[in-house]
Amino acid sequence: MSLIVQKFGGSSVANAERVFNVARIVTSTYDEGNDVVVVVSAQGDTTDDLIAKGNEINPNASKRERDMLLSAGEQISISLLAMAIEKLGYPVVSLLGWQAGFQTSSAHTSARIKRVVPNRIRKELDKKCIVVVAGFQGISKYDDITTLGRGGSDTSAVAIAAAMHADLCQIYTDVEGVYTADPRKVKNARKLKDISYDEMLELATLGAQVLNNRSVEMAKKYNIELEVLSSLVKAPGTIVKEKSKMEKMLISGVAKDTDVARISVIGVPDEPGFAFKIFSKLSSKNINVDIILQSIGHNGKKDISFTVAKDRAADAEKCVQDYVENVNAKDFIVNTEVAKISIVGAGMESHAGVATKMFEALYDAQINIQMIATSEIKVSVLIDKKDADRAVSAIHEKFFEQ
Ligand code: ADP
Ligand code: ASP
Ligand code: MG
Repeated sequence: MSLIVQKFGGSSVANAERVFNVARIVTSTYDEGNDVVVVVSAQGDTTDDLIAKGNEINPNASKRERDMLLSAGEQISISLLAMAIEKLGYPVVSLLGWQAGFQTSSAHTSARIKRVVPNRIRKELDKKCIVVVAGFQGISKYDDITTLGRGGSDTSAVAIAAAMHADLCQIYTDVEGVYTADPRKVKNARKLKDISYDEMLELATLGAQVLNNRSVEMAKKYNIELEVLSSLVKAPGTIVKEKSKMEKMLISGVAKDTDVARISVIGVPDEPGFAFKIFSKLSSKNINVDIILQSIGHNGKKDISFTVAKDRAADAEKCVQDYVENVNAKDFIVNTEVAKISIVGAGMESHAGVATKMFEALYDAQINIQMIATSEIKVSVLIDKKDADRAVSAIHEKFFEQ
């Protein structure tokens, strides 16, 4: 007998028919003699709809109240799934995050899981119940309901698998696994048989929404093997694990992130300390900076450009405005119409020319590169947002279709 954690995303439980489909997957796993813990997200677009509803009442509502609202989405889906499983004649219990033992930080709307104390889950499994747990939520030390940030149910599932030493953690979604690019955007995208934690972590961080990056981080930390697969099509999915046994592919995927803003500060004095001043100001406001580009100085002046997450662009703009006035820089430009396109692959470590091949694909498609960043296993470029999908297709074609 094994302990299996199965997570189902919003589209997998979007309507009654899909809820019953999930109930059948879960109960057949149970019928094979396994203990089953199920983690579910809110149905379909429920979380987006709840956010819109909240904004209608008060766009400046406290994060505590936003969490109270958002956590309701998962409460609906766990109860509906439990009702479906009851109807199929199986013992089942649904649990909210706090009942399942999810203790988190008190950083509302992006709380971190501190620990999972799965006593109640164990008790219910001992009674031979299927346990359905609300993803994306927990409780802070102040007894307030928290949420983990968008896509957080993946992390809930991995956290339970880690806390309970599960034998298998399956992430069911609306595509058949992890692909070389978003299969909804690139029709020739290929399903990967397996992928290493490090590559998956980069892909997830760089915009491949199929797994939440924190979930991959946690899976790597606790060595939880993940299987990403479809809840709608019965087919082998993608295994995410420490080392990919497959021959090392040069690159494993292309990702797109449009949640980026570029800020350029023009005419900064070309002297020591001016980069420090701007970036220390940003970090004091907890604004993470991603790609940084500094021009060569001319006539005692230089330009500094950097990217931040789009939702921090307004805060970053305030910092930069103060800075420009204080250091007598010339001006600044904020551009939110940009996209970051990245290639990821452990194979590129030992191969020269990977970045060149990516740049050639962009050149062939006549797409201009604004910024470039590289690491051992990734190359990212910043381009105009309007070119983003075309860029992904061109790069994918160059690496996978020629
Ligand atoms: P869920 O609701 O199950 O959590 P998500 O919408 O969060 O599902 O993630 C699944 C989606 O991720 C897919 O529908 C697909 O469009 C998108 N996606 C982006 N990049 C990739 C990729 N490389 N491989 C697979 N899916 C991807
Ligand atoms: N329902 C939450 C969201 O839409 C959590 C999740 O789907 O993982 O972000
Ligand atoms: Mg998701």
